[in-house]
Amino acid sequence: MKKVGILYICTGEYWKFWENFYKTCEEKFLIEEEKHYFVFTDNEVLLNIKNEKTHPIFQEKMQWPYPTLYRYKIFIKNKNYFKNMDYLIFCNANLLFSEKISKDDLFNYKELFVTLHPGFFNKKPEKFTYETNIKSLAYTEKKKDSIYVCGGFNGGSKDEFLNMSNILNDNIDKDLLNDIIAIWHDESHINNYVQINRENFNVISPSFCYPQNLEINIPKKVIVQNKENIISIKHKGIFYNIRFVIVKKLKKLLSYWR
Ligand code: UDP
Repeated sequence: MKKVGILYICTGEYWKFWENFYKTCEEKFLIEEEKHYFVFTDNEVLLNIKNEKTHPIFQEKMQWPYPTLYRYKIFIKNKNYFKNMDYLIFCNANLLFSEKISKDDLFNYKELFVTLHPGFFNKKPEKFTYETNIKSLAYTEKKKDSIYVCGGFNGGSKDEFLNMSNILNDNIDKDLLNDIIAIWHDESHINNYVQINRENFNVISPSFCYPQNLEINIPKKVIVQNKENIISIKHKGIFYNIRFVIVKKLKKLLSYWR
C-alpha cells in the first residue's frame, strides 16, 4: 500500500466542488492505497475539517490567472507537508471519479502520468493550442508524434512530481518577468515539459478527463464537471491574458514616473 497525496486547490467559490470530489474519490479512486488530501483553500469550513486523511492548508484567493498559473509554486512552497508521501497527484477541483481506478491504470510502471486532452486526442498536431510565442519558455514545436495533454489531472512519484513542479514554476516565473503569460497558463507549460521528457510519462486516455457536457465515444472514468452550473466565476482565454499583461506593463510604466 502506497501513500498518495491528492493535491486539491479550491480557493474562492471552488470550495463548492469539494464534497462530491471527496465522496467519489473515496469510493472509486486508488482504493487500495492510503490517500491523503492536501486541500489548499481559504474556505473556513474546509480549513476546519479534522480527520486523519484530510490536511487543509490555508491558501489565499488570488486574482486570475494566478490560481492556476501558480499551482506549482503552491506545491513547492508546501512540499514539507508531503514528506511522507510516495506519490503526488494533482486534481482540478471540478473532477469526479465515475469508475474504479488503480495506481497501475495511471502509472503503468512510469514515474509520472499525464492525461490526453479530450478536445485534442483525435486531432492532428496542427490543431494543438501550444504556446506559439518563441520568447515563452512554454513554446512548443509541433511534431508528427506530438500529444496535447490537459493541465487538470496529472501526477508522479513524489520526487519526480516535485522536480517537475520546480522546473515549471521557474519557467512560469521567468516568463512573467518578461511580461509573458503562456496562452493556456500551466497547461501550456506542462505540454512543453511532456514534449521534452516524454519517455518519463505514462500517457493516459481522455477517459480520465471526460467533459460532462460533451458526448465522445469513449468510456467515462473521470468526469470534468461543468463549472458554470456550480460557480459564478467567469475567466479565461487569450483576451484575459492580453489584458493582464497590458495592466502589468502599465503598472510598471507608472512606477517609473513616480
Ligand atoms: N482555482 C481555484 N480558484 C479560482 C480559480 C481556479 O482554486 O478562483 C483552481 C481550481 O483547482 C481549478 C483550477 O484552479 O480546478 C483550474 O481553474 P479553471 O477553472 O480555469 O479550470 P480549467 O477549466 O481551466 O481546468
